[in-house]
Amino acid sequence: MVNLKCKKYKGNRVKALQRDNFECKLCGENNYKKLCVHHIDGNGKKKNGKALKVKEQNNNLDNLMTLCFRCHNVLHFSQRPKVWSYKYRECIKCGTDKVMHRGKGLCQKCYSKQHRLDNIERERTRQAKYYKERGKYLLKLNIIKKARS
Ligand SMILES: [Zn+2]
Ligand SMILES: [Zn+2]
Ligand SMILES: [Zn+2]
Repeated sequence: MVNLKCKKYKGNRVKALQRDNFECKLCGENNYKKLCVHHIDGNGKKKNGKALKVKEQNNNLDNLMTLCFRCHNVLHFSQRPKVWSYKYRECIKCGTDKVMHRGKGLCQKCYSKQHRLDNIERERTRQAKYYKERGKYLLKLNIIKKARS
C-alpha cells in the first residue's frame, strides 16, 4: 500500500494523494497503482526537455495534483509544444506547416497525393512488366511457329 513516509516532492507527494482521496482528479480512477502526482506548472522532472533538479521544482502542495497515468499522458501531450515534425520544418513539397505532418516530410495533403501517384506508378510498372512478359511469350510462340512451318 501507500508508503506514507515517502519523501518524494518534499513529502508532499503523499500529502497530495491524501488530499485528493487517492483519486485521479480528472477521471476518478482510484487504483493506487495507476496514480501519479503531477506538477500543475508543468515543471515536473523536466522543463522544455531538460531535466530539472529537485530544488528547481515547485513541490508546494497547491502545485501538485493527483492523476492517473492515462490522464497524465493526455495532459502532457496537449501541453507539449507544437512541432510540425521533429525532422522537417515544413512540408518538403508545398512548404506549408499549417496542414498536419503526415510522414516522410509531407503534409497530410501532399502525402495522400503522393500516395495516389505511387499507386498509379506501381500499377503502371505492373502492367509494363505484364506486357513485356507477354511480348516475350508471343515472340517465343512465333519462333516455334516459324520453326514448325
Ligand atoms: Zn484519470
Ligand atoms: Zn505531470
Ligand atoms: Zn504539403
